[in-house]
Amino acid sequence: MTELVFRDDPYARSCAARVIAADGRGIRLDRTVFYATGGGQPGDAGLLRLADGSAIAIVDTVKGDEPDEVLHVPEAGAILPAPGAEVTAEIDWARRHRLMRMHTCLHLLCAVVSGEVTGGQVGDGKGRLDFNLPDTRLDKEHIAAELNRLIAEDHPARPRWVADAELAARPELVRTMSVKPPAGQGRVRLLEIEGVDLQPCGGTHVARTAEIGPVEVTKIENKGKQNRRINLAFRS
Ligand SMILES: [Zn+2]
Repeated sequence: MTELVFRDDPYARSCAARVIAADGRGIRLDRTVFYATGGGQPGDAGLLRLADGSAIAIVDTVKGDEPDEVLHVPEAGAILPAPGAEVTAEIDWARRHRLMRMHTCLHLLCAVVSGEVTGGQVGDGKGRLDFNLPDTRLDKEHIAAELNRLIAEDHPARPRWVADAELAARPELVRTMSVKPPAGQGRVRLLEIEGVDLQPCGGTHVARTAEIGPVEVTKIENKGKQNRRINLAFRS
């Protein structure tokens, strides 16, 4: 199991860590700032700096077999570090921050468009969500205006954990949820954008919506009879 530093502090760019194991699948650390691919958000890239001054380039981060296990995927041909080695794990922060901004923006999109979300992907500078919606009259300009209004209103966004039992006892907590929380693990991590959206999410987000910056709706696609795909991009 890896201590997931980004879960409590998504703004952490680096952390000291120790190598637990390294093989062809990836390098495991006792703690990390690297987010592993999941929930529509790509894994981080970055560097592991070793005590001798050398560095191993990490090209992707994926989940391992165990819960909370993170595999740092080194570039092809990299010399793997020995178990026990002390490293500094350092993410490509510029890319991660763009992913955090777009990820948070997709939460806003859930609040602007009412419909069941059936899929989504956070990309670098762009993102999309698929909605189960028979209505084909979605208005690109209206959606963009609503998103940019919520962004400019600068709502705080913060994660919080709730117990399964609390969630069951307080149905008002889940009123705005477009995704059913995973039950059976005792507690669920929620992302709350104050006054706007609340839903289960294990990803990384910015702390306030103004940090997202202006966005545009680039395209609305029909992907099947009831499936509408809304594509977003940063305006600058
Ligand atoms: Zn999220």
